[in-house]
Formats: sequence, C-alpha cells, structure tokens
Amino acid sequence: MDKNTVIGIIGAGTMGTGIAQIASTFNHEVILYDAYPDQLDSSRSGLEKILNRQIEKERMTREQVDGILERITFTNELSSVKPCGFVIEAIVEDLEVKKNVFSNIEKFVDRDAVLASNTSSLSIASISSALNYPNRFLGVHFFNPAPLMKLVEIIPGISTEENITAATRSLIDSWEKVTVAAKDTPGFIVNRVARPFYGEALRIYEEGIADPATIDWAMKELGGFRMGPFELMDLIGHDVNYKVTESVFKEFYYDPRFKPSFAQKRLVEAGRLGKKSGIGFYDYR
Ligand code: NAD
Repeated sequence: MDKNTVIGIIGAGTMGTGIAQIASTFNHEVILYDAYPDQLDSSRSGLEKILNRQIEKERMTREQVDGILERITFTNELSSVKPCGFVIEAIVEDLEVKKNVFSNIEKFVDRDAVLASNTSSLSIASISSALNYPNRFLGVHFFNPAPLMKLVEIIPGISTEENITAATRSLIDSWEKVTVAAKDTPGFIVNRVARPFYGEALRIYEEGIADPATIDWAMKELGGFRMGPFELMDLIGHDVNYKVTESVFKEFYYDPRFKPSFAQKRLVEAGRLGKKSGIGFYDYR
C-alpha cells in the first residue's frame, strides 16, 4: 500500500470522519460510506467546520482545505468501495452488524485489498469469521479525536498474515501516527488500562464519595491528567463508552474489575450521551 492506495472508510461518524480527514490530508483518494444519508451530510458539514477553523487559525490555506474535501467522496452506496486497496470500518460497536458489513464489503473489493476494523473492544477473530479471506483482516484502532491523537494500535488476529500487518503499519506510519502492536485481547492495551479509570471514577460517584466535577478537578489538578474521567466520557459519548465497558466485561468472563455502571447506563437510556447530544454528566446547552 502506498500514496496511490484508495482508502475506503465505512461509517461517517466521529471516528470515520476523523480517519477520512487524515487519509485525505496525506493525499489519498477517500471513499467515505455510511448507510444513513443524514449522517453523511453532518459528516461533511462537521469536517468543513473543522477545516475552516484551520484556515482562520492560519494553519491551512483555502487550497489545502479544498483539496482535502475534494479527495473525499461521500456515498451511501457500499459498492463504491470497489477501487479501495485499504478499507477501515468504523460503524456501531456491534459484532453482528460489523460481520454483516464485512461480508458485503468482500463482494466488492479486490482479493488483495486489506480490510480493517476500528473496533474498540470486539475480538478481531470474531469479526474475521465473517470473511472469506480472514488472512487480509486486522484491527487498526485510532483514538478520538483521530486527527489529533498520535497513537494507533495495530491488532493482527489469529489468521492475519504477517505481510498484511507490516503493510498496514507502514501505511499508518506514513500518516505520521505512532503505531503499537497489540494482541487480540479484550480492550487491547489502552482501552483495557482505561476501563478502571472510568469504572472507579463512576463507582466513587455512585457511592457518594465525590461528584463528577470534584473527581475531574482532582484528576487534572492533582493527578496531572489532561481531562477528568467524566469530561472524557462525555467527549467519547456514553453510548460508545458504555458499550465498550459492557463488551470488555463480557469478554473477560464477567470479571468484576470491569463491571459496567448503572449511572452511565441511565444516561444512555435517557439519551444523555455527552457533548454530542448536548448533555451528559455536564450540560453543554
Ligand atoms: P458513531 O456513532 O459516531 O458513528 C458510527 C457511524 O456508523 C454512524 O455514522 C452510523 O450512521 C454508521 N452506521 C451504523 N451502522 C451502519 C451500517 N450497518 N452500515 C454503515 N454505516 C453504519 O461511532 P464512533 O464513535 O465513530 O465509533 C465507531 C467505531 O469506532 C466503533 O467500533 C467504536 O467502538 C470505535 N471507536 C470509537 C472511539 C470513540 O472515542 N468514539 C474511539 C476508538 C474507536
């Protein structure tokens, strides 16, 4: 894979849009697919807003921004992934939905296209079971916000060929990211370390020891973290964060270390998903 590789991105949400921005910034043609046309509209307008801010701050020129937008094709036709040499999926964190999408992608792409998932918590082996050629599939886990976060976890599955892992790593390195190889285990490296960070903060809150603002303040002012756990969960989205915790909990055979929180579940049920819905632990309206 090189600069001429067309990049396919499945899912134009938070992560898919961010990854599209990165790939296009590094001059790749990008096909950004989403099943929902409304989501494509908000992906495009969100991206335009972010890039226009870069012009205002004199970090990019109008020509650069126009180039990034022109190289991205927004589509709701999955068959548009046909010319892609590398396809990364960033749709809802649901195994059956991901498997279904991958078996459809394989109908359109060439035999030598590399396929990847941005899953945070599902096993690479389980997603790969939907593929005819699981040896060309692996996990490529970006962090939010993808254009800013340097680290990317590269997760070969049980069937992934070594040359596929190496080619993917060098592609992602060429996007000026720092890659780290991780084994196909629940939460990989970062999300596994992060579970107790969120989980203990939620338990401290649920036990009435301190409120979210106090916990966030302590972690930032005293602990040296850039964001407190509640601010971070509000940024990530409680729907996404809760699902990841639930999945890691199940995958570790219900180990109580990873037990999800009722307080967070109630936020998800009430649609208080964090920044993206205007309210989570904090009110952004
Ligand atoms: P999101 O909800 O912002 O976006 C998901 C997108 O997928 C939406 O645009 C939705 O319309 C689309 N979609 C849903 N089902 C689809 C289908 N069947 N076919 C095509 N499109 C479909 O979610 P996100 O936060 O971008 O997360 C996407 C993936 O990335 C998940 O696997 C998540 O675990 C992982 N991830 C998320 C973060 C994060 O902080 N948000 C970080 C790393 C990895």
